[in-house]
Amino acid sequence: MKIVMDLHVHSIASGHAYSTIKEIARAAAEKGLQAVAITDHGPAMPGGPHGYYFGNLKSVPKELYGVRILRGVEANLMDIEGKLDLAPRFMKHLDLVSAGFHSDCFPPGGSMEVHTRALVNAIAGGLVDIIVHPGNPQFRMDPEKVVRAAKEHHVALEINNSSLTGSRKGSLDVCPQIAEVAARYGIMVSLGSDSHWADTVGELEAALELVLGAGIKPENILNTSMERLEEFLAIRQAKRPKGKKMSAVYTKPKNSKL
Ligand SMILES: [Zn+2]
Ligand SMILES: [Zn+2]
Repeated sequence: MKIVMDLHVHSIASGHAYSTIKEIARAAAEKGLQAVAITDHGPAMPGGPHGYYFGNLKSVPKELYGVRILRGVEANLMDIEGKLDLAPRFMKHLDLVSAGFHSDCFPPGGSMEVHTRALVNAIAGGLVDIIVHPGNPQFRMDPEKVVRAAKEHHVALEINNSSLTGSRKGSLDVCPQIAEVAARYGIMVSLGSDSHWADTVGELEAALELVLGAGIKPENILNTSMERLEEFLAIRQAKRPKGKKMSAVYTKPKNSKL
């Protein structure tokens, strides 16, 4: 089994990451990856890009240095309803929509019930393909309920490599629990480096070790083949809400002029 892509990478557009998409693609090619998902932070993140950035990602070639460039976002969960910070009109041309909790956008310190409901609502909303770093101990949730919702709506949960190598302290205790439940229900999981510097693209070893150790099957790991990812994204595209229903999963960030 081989890991052929990194599904969580930040470019300089995130405001606190330091490599261009070209530099990321070159690093991915050097590491033998077939694809990389550019998932810059949504507009509500301090220093994050305007919605136009995501709307215009079509300007970026679909392939650079032989590496497929997936156009994505790491949207912010904004409230208990699971609303996101990127307007649907900017989201609809993306290959991949990831979303997760960030303390600048969702007040930390809430109850497990609040976090669980926000995640379940975001999953049920239909726009989110991958829930990123669900093991963040700042936002404890009920893994059974979240995994069951992910199963029902065919959404993937991420095991975030940086959470296992120093970020989001306390994740080492929570992520194995999530992986165990994910293995039991047979949901899809995604591995992401959460790279903010091109040299760290594709660093997924700790996450891979964790998911395999939990008994997650290689065919349930999105990163193991391009065909598997494309099949997953095709199912997800078919589930995306249309028209007014799409707008129901968006909330305008306070810092946005949109
Ligand atoms: Zn994040
Ligand atoms: Zn990230």
